[in-house]
Amino acid sequence: MGFCFNADDCIGCSACEIACKNENQTPSGINWRTVKKVSPELFLSVSCNHCDNPECFRVCPHRAFTKRRDGIVEINQNLCDGCQLCVAACPYHAPKFDPESHKVSKCQMCYPRQDTGHLPACVEACTTNALKLVNLGEFNNPNIVRSLPGFPDISITSPSIVFFGQKTRKRYFLSQGRLKT
Ligand code: SF4
Ligand code: SF4
Repeated sequence: MGFCFNADDCIGCSACEIACKNENQTPSGINWRTVKKVSPELFLSVSCNHCDNPECFRVCPHRAFTKRRDGIVEINQNLCDGCQLCVAACPYHAPKFDPESHKVSKCQMCYPRQDTGHLPACVEACTTNALKLVNLGEFNNPNIVRSLPGFPDISITSPSIVFFGQKTRKRYFLSQGRLKT
């Protein structure tokens, strides 16, 4: 599984970021998903990308990271000693160091939710469907691209995310509590 992000549909509302924080009750200042404005017309919503070749997995001297059969990259905080080598190595700045606990944490693709048939909290919260969860092995769409301007280098880790490129931006407005284009 992986994420699919449609830049044209993202309005930068940060609902995904807030839903993640609420779901995972991360400490103050630690957000596993962040929404960034990379240009006047482009927002990116970024978390751990559960890469095919995860750098965190490779550099951790304590083998705190594992990659599940479904592709999710997990961290076992009991094995983390806070060395932060993964923080330095990840191109997407996904592992977050908490100085209070002296541990690293990161997005686990909401596997407890997925294991019980629910979408990740961030995906469920996105009212415009800009952020989706897809089966990358079966997701063949001629319009998808592997990266967008402002997204970090994908060549090292092969992240599990695809994008739809930027076309004409849609504008959204609320009408009687419903989102309209
Ligand atoms: S919830 Fe959806 S539209 Fe809002 S910032 Fe996140 S990805 Fe973009
Ligand atoms: S999949 Fe879950 S943990 Fe990962 S960014 Fe989305 S809400 Fe946060």
